[in-house]
Amino acid sequence: MERPVYVIGHRSPDTDSVCAAIAYAALKQQLGEQNVRPARAGELNAETSFVLRHFEVPVPVLLTDAAGLDLILVDHNEVGQTLPHIDEANILEIWEHHRLGDLRLPRPIVFHCEPVGATATLISELHLMRGVAPARAMAGLMLSAILSDTLGFRSPTTTARDREAVARLAPVAGVGRPAAFGEELLRVKLEAAQRKSPAQLVSDDFKEFLFGARRVGISQVEVFRAGAFAGRKAEIMAELRARRGAAGLAQAIFMITSVADQSSELWFAGESPELFERAFGPLKDDAVLVPGCMSRKQQVVPRLEAALR
Ligand code: MN
Ligand code: MN
Repeated sequence: MERPVYVIGHRSPDTDSVCAAIAYAALKQQLGEQNVRPARAGELNAETSFVLRHFEVPVPVLLTDAAGLDLILVDHNEVGQTLPHIDEANILEIWEHHRLGDLRLPRPIVFHCEPVGATATLISELHLMRGVAPARAMAGLMLSAILSDTLGFRSPTTTARDREAVARLAPVAGVGRPAAFGEELLRVKLEAAQRKSPAQLVSDDFKEFLFGARRVGISQVEVFRAGAFAGRKAEIMAELRARRGAAGLAQAIFMITSVADQSSELWFAGESPELFERAFGPLKDDAVLVPGCMSRKQQVVPRLEAALR
């Protein structure tokens, strides 16, 4: 038996992270690399569980430590977002759509990063380039990942290539009305968010970033209307402060994105609030409302980068 190669996304996995890993492993297998397997770096969220059930795809294996493994990374390239002991893993490829991170690799690898709405868009285009048709379920997973990452094409990260990929995948996946399916995914995600405990709200989509010497955690949750968590602010802020302290982060940010209002509220905990304010404007009760802001990677991270460096 050949040594396995695991395709894996970031910790606190989202639908793109899990589905791009599964679809890319399937493509590799179709191309004859039978030792490539999908994996995940954490518990599935409600939306991803829904997608895997809907297309009858098994949940990939959970990995908790990278030491000694052969890995292909998808949907991330920052040390703070990947498995522990990543420096002891053999990373073969990275397929990605975020900023260049801080992973340092000892040898040249395939590193494919483009500013599209989802990693799954790149994986679906790779099928075209290699002349391989995805199976129905794999088309469904990629379509779901693109609709999820772009919030049903609402996010400013959406590109024409994401729309084209969904249009191409929908008939293969047996999804008659992709827009309606995207709304169903969003409903699953929003309803799950309303049921979450403060600890789940803060940790379920938590990502760590390095800005110069400062480590900052940014958690994102989507809601329908702004103000959805106003009544629970004290307990969520307590959780955010605890998480920041436990992880030794300079700052922790809770990003509440309203899909109907196309805005985000940012709740702040940590040191140097004046640097945060330089990026987003004055804090009031540890919070600031940023109209038009929906993307952590394209609208929050770059502004923090400019202010914190
Ligand atoms: Mn992701
Ligand atoms: Mn993604």
